[in-house]
Amino acid sequence: MLTNMPSSNASVPVVWSGDTRLHVPGAEVWVGVPTPGTEVPERVDEVLGAVRAAGHPVVEARGHDDTVLLRVHDAALVEHLRTVHDEWMASEIPELVGQRKVVPYAFPTEAMLGGLPAHRAVAVHARAGQFGYDTMTLVGAGTWAAARAAVDCALTAVDLVGEGAQVAYALCRPPGHHVTRAAYGGSCYLNNAAVAAEALRAAGHERVAVIDVDAHHGNGTAAIFYERGDVAYGSVHVDPGAGWFPHYVGFADETGTGAGAGTTLNLPLAPGSDDGVWCRSVEQLAAWVAALGVEALVVSLGVDAAADDPESPLLVTADGYRRAGAALGGLGVPTVAVQEGGYHLPSLGGLVAACLEALGE
Ligand SMILES: [Zn+2]
Repeated sequence: MLTNMPSSNASVPVVWSGDTRLHVPGAEVWVGVPTPGTEVPERVDEVLGAVRAAGHPVVEARGHDDTVLLRVHDAALVEHLRTVHDEWMASEIPELVGQRKVVPYAFPTEAMLGGLPAHRAVAVHARAGQFGYDTMTLVGAGTWAAARAAVDCALTAVDLVGEGAQVAYALCRPPGHHVTRAAYGGSCYLNNAAVAAEALRAAGHERVAVIDVDAHHGNGTAAIFYERGDVAYGSVHVDPGAGWFPHYVGFADETGTGAGAGTTLNLPLAPGSDDGVWCRSVEQLAAWVAALGVEALVVSLGVDAAADDPESPLLVTADGYRRAGAALGGLGVPTVAVQEGGYHLPSLGGLVAACLEALGE
């Protein structure tokens, strides 16, 4: 599959699946108002165009079973995502109010339950809030197929690294880093980066790190590995303490617990931060995982920290993403880059290509 790779050192195999286009968000509910989503299928085409133009070989994702996926997520979450849209469409909701996508309306928070045990809700519109933690991450007809295809992209990229590629890139869509073990949200459904990390562990790498350069803290990945000593999580992101998603977590005092004590590192940045401090933070994360003796790396490659991006107030340039790629590539360990956010269609592909170019050198 890699026989037609160009001879450039910077060539990185790109794994994609046409099924990742099947999730069409639209009408995400934000503060009670339906808004046009920014996590659109066209993102895939923009990245594909840019990586092809840069000479990276593009390969189709191979199918994988759920073995690794179910090490990362509760079976109940996976089953919910697989079946909930059909159940929703069979309920009275579409006819009653015209809502054809799954959107929660109530959430059984710890504070609501007040210590009482939560039963599995019978009504599908109530069960939606037992797995989805916000109202902007809707499940439509193609959501499951796309999310599951993104997992196959991540697992295939891990395969390619196992077959000898130093770096492989998974063009995952929808993104995944906001998904915890049992709940989805933040425009994410299945945690592709966590699956890649778990697959690298299964492939025999004793110590793995996820470095997350998306503009937002990857609360899902952080939570999944928070008590694990074998998978470290480091992130640079806009400070949730300045009012940004995921709001409740992603602060510098979260450093891991139990066997995972000291294996989480959050570097929150002020809104308006640009290349200087952002690149220094990525370099700090790289030095940190090198000191941990990491044997393989997952990069949660969100490019929404870019200046033009509508979803974050950070001001990183393509040169910044190139410097980040150089810092992470400099670790010299087998690396799987997984696409996370990045929503400015005109610049998205170029930012990914800039990072991959340096990552693969
Ligand atoms: Zn993001």
